[in-house]
Amino acid sequence: MKPVAGIIGGGVVGAHIALALAKRFSVYLIEKNLRLGQETSTRNSGVLHAGIYYPSESLKARFCVEGNALSREFFSKYAVPFKPTGKYIIARDETEEAELERLFENALRNGVPDMQHVSMKKFRNTFPFIQAHSAIFSGSTGIIDAADYMNTLAALLDRNDVEVLKPCAALGIASGPKIETDRGTLEADVVINAAGLYADEMAKSAGLFDYDIIPLKGDYLGTRSFALDVPIYPLPNHTHGTLGLHLTPTFSPEVLIGPSEALCSRKDDYTIRTPFEMFYASLKNTFAPSFLPKIELYEGYSGNRPRAYYKGKRCEDFTIIEHPSGVMHLIGIESPGLTSAPAIARHVASLIR
Ligand SMILES: Cc1cc2nc3c(=O)[nH]c(=O)nc-3n(C[C@H](O)[C@H](O)[C@H](O)COP(=O)(O)OP(=O)(O)OC[C@H]3O[C@@H](n4cnc5c(N)ncnc54)[C@H](O)[C@@H]3O)c2cc1C
Repeated sequence: MKPVAGIIGGGVVGAHIALALAKRFSVYLIEKNLRLGQETSTRNSGVLHAGIYYPSESLKARFCVEGNALSREFFSKYAVPFKPTGKYIIARDETEEAELERLFENALRNGVPDMQHVSMKKFRNTFPFIQAHSAIFSGSTGIIDAADYMNTLAALLDRNDVEVLKPCAALGIASGPKIETDRGTLEADVVINAAGLYADEMAKSAGLFDYDIIPLKGDYLGTRSFALDVPIYPLPNHTHGTLGLHLTPTFSPEVLIGPSEALCSRKDDYTIRTPFEMFYASLKNTFAPSFLPKIELYEGYSGNRPRAYYKGKRCEDFTIIEHPSGVMHLIGIESPGLTSAPAIARHVASLIR
């Protein structure tokens, strides 16, 4: 008989961990919603990040670079829709130059492949509607169809004999370890808390009291007023430590604009609340002045970043911590978590004997 692993949370991270453990354990994946990946895993920009932004020694940098490569292998093996678009990051005027260069250097330090400085003549010819002073290009960035990705993971879990319990809400983690759920108790040899926005609540039930998740809401608008086949990002937003309001192509003619940033009190608030005027104001420096009035925006969707705090101080990095023995918590798996998921799973599986 194999030992039992109980995983709370059927997002992209929990699903990859379940697959990584499926040979060694009888795996139970507990998901409170009807389908896998209905929360943050499908409410994001759908960008396979390269690893440009994060401090070199961070888990984010390591797992993003590794996760980018592992995800590409996964997408090609299981035919998940993926476009290797690359991405531009732009400096909008001279004052932003130094930071753009700092990002470029940081990407090289992190081992990000295929980084390039861009000829502005060519850039302006291709994107006459964008205002940019200079730009860098990341060739290893791409876009993913996150819903299709989750469907593929669901089918693989089934093929690998993972017992997916859904809808089934974990109520807490008790000593043993065991998971109390609204459908009874699961006795396990190891428990993994991959509950995304709710990972703090599961952690507290296991005696890890000092982590809190306060969602940082991100709204997206859509537009079809222009065509775009490469994501275009401004420099990061330092107020909230996010990547800034970017333009992202999709698998349809729609271009996504977002995500905005607002601390929000409810983890399940997915109503678009950012006024359209705020989007137009943020885009004023990105688009050529004559072009902006031609852009027609409509409501897209919203996602909540699982922003974690330890004793009130923001956790800049992913937190992966065992407490008590046999119970692993993944807290604050915000961006680049979609990209990092297979690398996080490989790491967690290596910690579990
Ligand atoms: C606006 C936004 C943009 C982003 N853009 C990108 C991007 O472009 N690229 C990128 O790499 N990353 C991006 N991210 C980050 C990425 O989406 C997340 O890091 C990733 O989806 C986290 O996956 P997860 O499985 O940890 O969490 P989730 O997807 O939230 O999964 C957790 C699951 O746990 C379940 N759950 C919670 N509590 C319980 C319970 N008590 N019982 C049972 N089930 C429970 C939930 O229902 C949920 O399905 C973005 C995030 C946001 C919000």
